[in-house]
Amino acid sequence: MVGKIIGFSLLGLFVALLLFMLLRTLLTKKPNIDNASYTPHDIDLDRVRDHLIGAVQIPTVTLSDNDQDGSIFYTYQAYLEKSYPKIMAVAEKTLVNKYAVIYTVKGTDESLLPCAILAHQDVVPAPEEGWEVPPFSGQVKDGYIYGRGSQDMKSQMITALEGLEILLEDGRTPKRTMMFCFGHDEELRGTYGALEISKYLQSKGVRLEYVIDEGGTILDGSILGINNKIALIGTCEKGYADYVLEVEKDGGHSSAPTRRTSVGILSEAMYKIEKHKRPTSWTKPTKDMFKALAPHMNFGFKLALVNRDILSPLLKYVLSIVSPFTNCLVRTTLAPTQTSGAHTPNTLAPVARGNVNCRLNTGETTAEVQKYIQKIAGKNVKVSVLEGYCDPSPVSDIDTDAFRALSKTISEVFDGYIAAPYPFIAASDAKHYYNLTNCVYRFTPFEKSIEDGNRIHGMNERQSVASLELGTRFFLRLYENTCF
Ligand SMILES: [Zn+2]
Repeated sequence: MVGKIIGFSLLGLFVALLLFMLLRTLLTKKPNIDNASYTPHDIDLDRVRDHLIGAVQIPTVTLSDNDQDGSIFYTYQAYLEKSYPKIMAVAEKTLVNKYAVIYTVKGTDESLLPCAILAHQDVVPAPEEGWEVPPFSGQVKDGYIYGRGSQDMKSQMITALEGLEILLEDGRTPKRTMMFCFGHDEELRGTYGALEISKYLQSKGVRLEYVIDEGGTILDGSILGINNKIALIGTCEKGYADYVLEVEKDGGHSSAPTRRTSVGILSEAMYKIEKHKRPTSWTKPTKDMFKALAPHMNFGFKLALVNRDILSPLLKYVLSIVSPFTNCLVRTTLAPTQTSGAHTPNTLAPVARGNVNCRLNTGETTAEVQKYIQKIAGKNVKVSVLEGYCDPSPVSDIDTDAFRALSKTISEVFDGYIAAPYPFIAASDAKHYYNLTNCVYRFTPFEKSIEDGNRIHGMNERQSVASLELGTRFFLRLYENTCF
């Protein structure tokens, strides 16, 4: 009898929970975004194309240190100044730490905080081998501008300037002050450029309304049960660290090996690290992302994600196995990337060395992860962290006018694409700006294939000419929505 009562009670509870989850799902409705007031501005695509070609032809390769001759950056800036006469007629130019530059266009309403539009002038090197056209020729082929920096990120810089140039040509004047902040060493962490600009602005007592930089992406929503494209806006950056694992053992001839070799011990450690993943967790940006996307999902996905608090363990497990992209949203990733041993095939290596590349989720620290790796690798392996590591960035607010304006702009310009915050998994200059505002956003307004995305930092980097039209409209409309 008692057993029956318990059985029925449990069943009742289960049914109640199910009903609760169903009701929650049914009550989650899509937000109303009204795009009716948007009329696309005409864009002179030939002009934008030619501006980008000219920019790509100036080889602004990152300097390895700031004392090197960087006069190429002055050539590049002179090119921008010639190409955007309306902006430059009203902008105040400030050089920071020699080659970083701020162009400030004053707004008429001093009560509004300025906004900052970021882009980096520098590009990674491009040895000619393997390129279909010389990497700094800016040649157009099959509708694409080829060249180093065409994607990363001169296209964004050019369209960001183009958008304002057009509005000024229309005879309009911004209410909000706009700062175009262009660092010159983003590809080497931005410490000479973006960090110095940020320090300079802090020293002047500047606070910013928002910052926009490269990052984010436009994806097909079908992997999350969404029948539309999704535009992801980076609201934080994952941390970055390279951990070096070292095993020292006696070397010698490999015809009479010792019981354990340095390579054997290192390999075992690497294997264990790959196997023992960091635990999954929900971070704020990941929760924000699913909260924004859930209303647009099909019923099954929606039920699961609206009730992610109840289904949390199951959901984290599913996300961690479904794809590398969803896996890296819910955990710190550890990727063994390099190993080295003896110099010849018939020698025992006195030192075996390996590298584990790590991208840290919000809430974890590089020191904490180092301890974790050390514990798994065991006492025979020495673990250290390479210079250049950084902890995860702070997380930007999304309940802000700037974020809403950014989402609306995306929906307007990209015909209803769904904007959502997410943790950006690469690095950009934006991380240096958190002392100036809580609204640091990363979005690249170009649709591209995964294959084209993979050309960044690789061979045959290219940007489609057609994509520059919506890119320019994106910035133009963002300025209209936030600065005019
Ligand atoms: Zn970049």
